Amino acid sequence: MIYLDNNATTQLDPAVLEEMLPFLTTAYGNPSSGYGFAAAARDAIHLARERVAALVGCEPGEIVFTSGGTEASNAALHSALQLDAQRRHIVTTAVEHSATYRYCEHLAKHGYSVTFVAVDRDGNLDLAALEKAIRPDTAIVSAMWANNETGVLFPIEQIADVARGQRVLFHTDAVQAAGKVPMRLRDVSVQYASFSAHKLHGPKGVGALYLSRRAVFRPMLIGGGQEDGRRSGTENVAAIVGFGKAAELAANSLGEMQARVRATRDRFEDVLLREVPDTFVNGNREARVPNTASLSFAGIEAQAALMLLDQQGICCSAGSACHTASLQPSRVLAAMQLNEERINGSLRFSFSRLNTDAEVDRALQIIPRAMGKLRALAGPRASRGESLAV
Ligand SMILES: *Cc1c(COP(=O)(O)O)cnc(C)c1O
Repeated sequence: MIYLDNNATTQLDPAVLEEMLPFLTTAYGNPSSGYGFAAAARDAIHLARERVAALVGCEPGEIVFTSGGTEASNAALHSALQLDAQRRHIVTTAVEHSATYRYCEHLAKHGYSVTFVAVDRDGNLDLAALEKAIRPDTAIVSAMWANNETGVLFPIEQIADVARGQRVLFHTDAVQAAGKVPMRLRDVSVQYASFSAHKLHGPKGVGALYLSRRAVFRPMLIGGGQEDGRRSGTENVAAIVGFGKAAELAANSLGEMQARVRATRDRFEDVLLREVPDTFVNGNREARVPNTASLSFAGIEAQAALMLLDQQGICCSAGSACHTASLQPSRVLAAMQLNEERINGSLRFSFSRLNTDAEVDRALQIIPRAMGKLRALAGPRASRGESLAV
């Protein structure tokens, strides 16, 4: 199996599992208990908080552990709407992950209003449109740091400055950026940011919400007062410990991500662009995370390609994972105004530091042959790649 779907989820790093195991076996104390036996869990959460804070460049006290990126993003928007009942408008973008996009759609059905700011054909945000979308009743601006489908990076510092200039809260979904680009939240005017462990070789079901110590917050989960009252519920100790270890490893391998993984991704793209005629890269090739390749193959049906590649042992995706079952054309690529054929022929390959050169070599032998086969089956029009280069 060649796993090239690391934006959907990643393999747990064995060193992460090793640090988690005691908290699933012997060290089962509740971190809120006062006796010495529970101190191990408490101390381990403390260390995890320091490690996640180090990865994203903030203070440990600004990290609140959650059940994942989805909860963190929902909690950020929820908080902003609770803070001021007069502010019932959200500014976000047309290409957000469902964790933000669908929550905003839900809010729009329940009395709030939402502006989805457009992107251009390369997936770049229209900053002027974003600024114009902010109104006196805007509660929050929410824009992702890196796109999960194309890898395109938004200019987070500039968006933060726009929001600050208009005195509006700013949340960024930084799930796909953490561990892939350098991050110093203390230098950016951002109040809330979302993270997820399983996108960086940590366990599923754990993430974090960054809360700037200068920002006010209204919690979504209320109960036992864990996480300083900001997220109640007994901590998922083993998962949090795993997130901490994964964050430490991600910080240590940021250089490798920016050099070796980027070179792998670039080589992969270059070979496919050369060997498979009428292939296109989706999204800005410069302002991009190092691990993501969104490619469009003329005349190919992505669903058929996924099945064929799956038979040959390659895991990749068409658009975002959440959409593969429903056969909906990618909302993100549609927002980039790519035509239907180009969207239908799009596959996302996403790499990690655990992919080897040998795996990529094999994928580069399999994919051109698979595309040739699919085009031959689809007939002469497909093999010419008509109407795609628009
Ligand atoms: C995966 C992902 C999420 C959701 O994180 P979960 O931990 O799976 O809830 C949110 N945003 C982006 C950009 C993602 O890639």
